[in-house]
Order: sequence, then structure tokens, then C-alpha cells
Amino acid sequence: IEVKPALNIAGLAVGYGGVPAVRDLNAHVRAGEILALLGPNGAGKTTTLLASVGALPALSGTITALGEPLDRRVEANARRGIILVPDSRGVFHRLSVDDNLRLARRKHGPSVDDVFDYFPALRSMRSRRCGTLSGGEQQMLALAKALLCAPKILLVDELSLGLSPIAVEGLLPRLRQIADDQHMAVVLVEQHIELALSIADTAVVLHHGRSVMSGSATELRGRRDMVEAAYFGSV
Ligand code: ATP
Repeated sequence: IEVKPALNIAGLAVGYGGVPAVRDLNAHVRAGEILALLGPNGAGKTTTLLASVGALPALSGTITALGEPLDRRVEANARRGIILVPDSRGVFHRLSVDDNLRLARRKHGPSVDDVFDYFPALRSMRSRRCGTLSGGEQQMLALAKALLCAPKILLVDELSLGLSPIAVEGLLPRLRQIADDQHMAVVLVEQHIELALSIADTAVVLHHGRSVMSGSATELRGRRDMVEAAYFGSV
């Protein structure tokens, strides 16, 4: 049986002030799968994520999420389970871990205890002010907050920004586990190509707003030289 994608991007153009930063983009991700969006700075990765949650309107093309066209309102999409973790993480530095989580908690979503199961290290930091956590711990908190929103499609922007490679190596497999357990579709923007491909099912490489390479993560891992060339726009 053909499983329909949770998120389907078809012929998308999106940008700023009517000027496209992304053009002709086709990509999709199914429930339980991870799509890695790769590419150098300015390639259009964040722009694609913003369009996927309805924060930027499509100039052309369509985005279908959970079987319906994306709503024009971010809040409406969030209520349907389309959740973005921004690269700024969106945690409140002056509040405790517990208060950060309590603020994110939804009536019909999982409990704080449920999300601690994925990030047990956070449990012992409940009363700590978020500003005193390490970058990796703050990122765990950002992911935990997102999980409280009961995502069906989770879009994660540069999880690894400012983190040590060890912290990233700890976090990415957790995301894989969450996608598997929760049957969640994940779109991951990531600078660490190898790490991203090691947990993703499929990947798209963007350059100057266009998809220059795409395929299964296994396929792209076997063509690392091509992926690197795609980064520099020489494909
Ligand atoms: P990065 O890793 O630097 O975030 P990215 O692949 O996420 O890179 P985007 O942030 O999507 O890239 O940017 C794509 C293009 O859109 C870039 O040329 C960028 O300068 C432009 N851009 C991004 N945000 C805006 C904005 N608010 N207004 C105008 N142009 C923007």
C-alpha cells in the first residue's frame, strides 16, 4: 500500500517581499520518517521550514499537510500538530525548566512526565533556571517543549547550532527514536551532513533556493562527494 506523505511540498516558490528565496521545490515526508534538508548558509532551508508551518505564504506551488492544504495561519497549523522548533530554540532563559514545560503544555497533549522519558537528563534539572543550562540541555528542553504540543509533523531548524559535536551526537538519535515511537514526520535542517544522513530516511540538498540533489539517505551517504559538490553548487 502506498502511504501518503504527512507533508507534501509541490512546486513551491516562497520568499520575502515577493522575491523567491526558494523555487520549484518538491519534497515530501511520511509519518515515522525523517527528511533532512541540507545545504549551505542562505540556501533556503529556514525559508522552507517557515513556509511549511504557514509563517510565509507560498508565491506558487502547494503544501499539503496531513491530507489538507496548509492553513494560512500558523496557530491553526500548530493546533493540527505542525510544529516548528526554531534555531533560536524559543526557551525562556529566566524561567525554570519546569515553568518552560508548563507553559508549553496543552490540554490534550502528552504530560511533562511523558516527555521526560525521552530526555531523562532534564528531570534532574526541573528547578534550574533555563539560562544556566548548557546549549545541549537547552536544545533538549526546546525539543521537549515541542513534544508537549503533540506534533504530527515536527520541523527542527539547526538543532546543532552552537552545540559541541558530542551534544549533537547525543541529540540526533533521540530524534530518530521519537519519530519511530510517535510515528511522527520530521523535517530536519542540519549542517552536519554525515550525522543528519545517519538518522534520516531521505534528504534534499538545497543550493541558492533550488533542490540540486535528493534521494534516500543511504543513497546520498554513498555519494558523499556528490553531496559536497552540491553544497558548493557545482552539480
Ligand atoms: P542559514 O543556514 O543561513 O539559515 P538557510 O538555508 O536557512 O541558511 P534561509 O534563511 O532560508 O537560508 O535564507 C534563504 C535566502 O533568503 C537568503 O538569501 C537570505 O538572505 C534570504 N532571507 C532570509 N530571511 C530573509 C528576510 N527576512 N528578508 C529578506 N530575505 C531573507
